[in-house]
Amino acid sequence: MVGGGLLRLLLDWIVPSTCAGCGAERMEVGGSGACRCCWGSIRELDPAAACPGCALPAAGGRCRDCGDTPSPISRAAAFGEYDGTLKTLISAYKFHGFDILSAPFAERLARLARSSGLEQGAPAVVGVPSTRSRNRQRGFDPGVLLARETARRLGLQTLPALRRLRSSPPQSRLSRSDRMANVAGVFEGTASAAGRPVLLVDDIVTTGATAFAAARALHRAGTSRVHLLVLARTLVPVGPTAPECA
Ligand SMILES: [Zn+2]
Ligand SMILES: [Zn+2]
Repeated sequence: MVGGGLLRLLLDWIVPSTCAGCGAERMEVGGSGACRCCWGSIRELDPAAACPGCALPAAGGRCRDCGDTPSPISRAAAFGEYDGTLKTLISAYKFHGFDILSAPFAERLARLARSSGLEQGAPAVVGVPSTRSRNRQRGFDPGVLLARETARRLGLQTLPALRRLRSSPPQSRLSRSDRMANVAGVFEGTASAAGRPVLLVDDIVTTGATAFAAARALHRAGTSRVHLLVLARTLVPVGPTAPECA
């Protein structure tokens, strides 16, 4: 009993003891960071229907925005809609200490990369870096960790091909064109991915402004092609919702 109690204490210290989505106890959560109900409640998106420029569901063609303004991204796919449980889990990952979610997120991204064919041609994997000050606060860089974990599962190389030069002011209240202007010049590409195709990994895409700025920086540094693999894609503007699993 004493040994079991000590093991429990040790596990509580190493692994978050509740589901990051609904707060259910560990018995259901295991090492996946969230319970089965929460993972099962995520609305996955069909990669065959994704706009190749931004991953927005567009019946297999380009969405209107990418039709109007050519995207710097050749192909794109998103795992799920940025809403409900997935939104809660990403927030837990980035802001509430659930870096354990990098593993189950990466498993799903690797599966998506294979099913959508985005991993073909052995591209190097590149994460979208956050600012140094934010990374210092949280102890890790969520975009870069997600890219590294995904690359490991795909057997691909990760490259530090993007540098963030500055933070960008909050985007949530800005229009699409203002967001594009807001992130212009935020990233700089390095020579590490010059002449190579790249699989860019990001956690959230809303208008695509940040991913486009990252892709343009990679192209300026000589990257031959940029594919985008994203965890969550905003479909319509929505407010926060609570999962109903607990
Ligand atoms: Zn849950
Ligand atoms: Zn598009």
